[in-house]
Amino acid sequence: MSGNITFTIIKPFAVSNGYIGPILNKIHQGGFRISAMRMLWLTRGEAERFYEVHEERPFYKDLVEFMTSGPIVVAILKKENAVEDYRKLIGATDPEKAEEGTIRKEFAESMRANAVHGSDSDDNAKIEGSFFFSGLQQF
Ligand code: ATP
Ligand code: MG
Repeated sequence: MSGNITFTIIKPFAVSNGYIGPILNKIHQGGFRISAMRMLWLTRGEAERFYEVHEERPFYKDLVEFMTSGPIVVAILKKENAVEDYRKLIGATDPEKAEEGTIRKEFAESMRANAVHGSDSDDNAKIEGSFFFSGLQQF
C-alpha cells in the first residue's frame, strides 16, 4: 500500500527568484496539505548528508554546491498516494523534458536548478522528512 506523505525542498534558485508563493500554490492546487514547513540555509555537511545516496554520482559535488548556495524551504506534504502524485506534479528532473503545467516546467532553470526536490519512495519520504522535522513539528 502506498503511503500518504512525501517530502519536498524548494531549492535555492526558486527561493531567490520569488517562487515560494507560486510553488506553494501549485502544491495546494494539486491537493496536498502542508504537514510541516520551514526555511533554512543548509551547511555543506548537512547537504552532503542529505544527498549521501548520490555520493558516487558525477553531479554530487555540484549538487551540494548548489543546494548550499542560498536559503531553501523544506516541507512535508500529505495526500493519498503522495510520492507518486507529487512526482507527477513536479515533472521530469530535466525541465526541458517536464510536461506542460508541471512545477519544473514553469519554475526550473536547468537540471541543477530544477526548482524542487520530491521524494522517490515512501521509505525515503519518511527518512527525508525526519531529517528536518521532529514528530512534534509535524501537524
Ligand atoms: P530530486 O531528488 O531533487 O527530486 P530527481 O529524483 O528527479 O530529483 P535525482 O536523480 O534524485 O533526480 O537527482 C537529484 C538532483 O540532482 C536532481 O534534482 C538534480 O538537481 C541533480 N541532478 C541530477 N542529475 C543531474 C545531472 N546530470 N547534472 C546536474 N545535476 C543533476
Ligand atoms: Mg531523487
